[in-house]
Amino acid sequence: MNEDKKVLVTGASGGIGRACAVEAAKAGYYVICHYNGSKGKAEETLAQIEAAGGKGELIQFNISDREDCKVKLDEMTAKHGVLWGIINNAGITRDNTFVGLTGDDWDAVIHTNLDSFYNVLSPLVMGMASRKNKRGGRIITMASVSGLYGNRGQTNYSASKAGIIGATKALAVELAGRNITVNCIAPGVIETDMTKAIDPQIYDMIMGTIPMKRAGKPEEIGALAVFLLSEAAGYITRQVITVNGGMQ
Ligand code: NAP
Repeated sequence: MNEDKKVLVTGASGGIGRACAVEAAKAGYYVICHYNGSKGKAEETLAQIEAAGGKGELIQFNISDREDCKVKLDEMTAKHGVLWGIINNAGITRDNTFVGLTGDDWDAVIHTNLDSFYNVLSPLVMGMASRKNKRGGRIITMASVSGLYGNRGQTNYSASKAGIIGATKALAVELAGRNITVNCIAPGVIETDMTKAIDPQIYDMIMGTIPMKRAGKPEEIGALAVFLLSEAAGYITRQVITVNGGMQ
């Protein structure tokens, strides 16, 4: 059913991106799995896709490098044509209290997380929104509860994720007339390399704020992403959907 639909997942070498990529492939989409430095992990993602009977390929670029994104994504479009979906997931943290945050910590997180909204989507949206593309499409961005609530030690990250939320909502308005939905997933704490890096004391404190008393699994984000990619989700747009075990 989805075999002629191609989906790009950025950060498919990481925990959440891998789950989104594998779940999308299981739903029949052809998945273009993006990575930056972790080629081996991206190859593992593709191997999991193929083991599940799915299809896809790899693509490499640095999401904070506008020119690199444009060159690689133009090549991808020349090869594959207009995509059905984009899961703009890749991102980083550089946590510290605000007084301890360096200019480099601030810039790295903003340039990676927020600038990538423009860097990745800009080369792709024109084709998706073209009048020739009659079937519409799906754009999913990855924010965080940190962008909604503001987390101690994450002023840079919270700013980048709040920015993604605003940009997602604005783009949803612009693309609604073309039947392209644009939604944002805001995960809470999900078991990946990113959260393994959290100080154990702080991690326990965070667990205390989660009514379900556990971290989420990457597949629990992947399941939502696959639903948002589906035809059935065609009237859901401009939304921020949190997946966080009831965290407030
Ligand atoms: P992860 O396992 O650390 O994966 C991060 C991914 O981002 C990797 O695939 C990495 O690629 C990619 N990436 C980082 N910098 C990049 C760059 N400059 N250019 C291109 N790709 C880059 O993290 P995750 O937990 O899966 O997080 C995925 C997304 O979910 C992020 O946006 C994160 O902010 C968000 N999120 C995560 C959680 C959580 O609890 N885990 C909660 C809320 C939101 P390479 O390794 O190939 O370089």
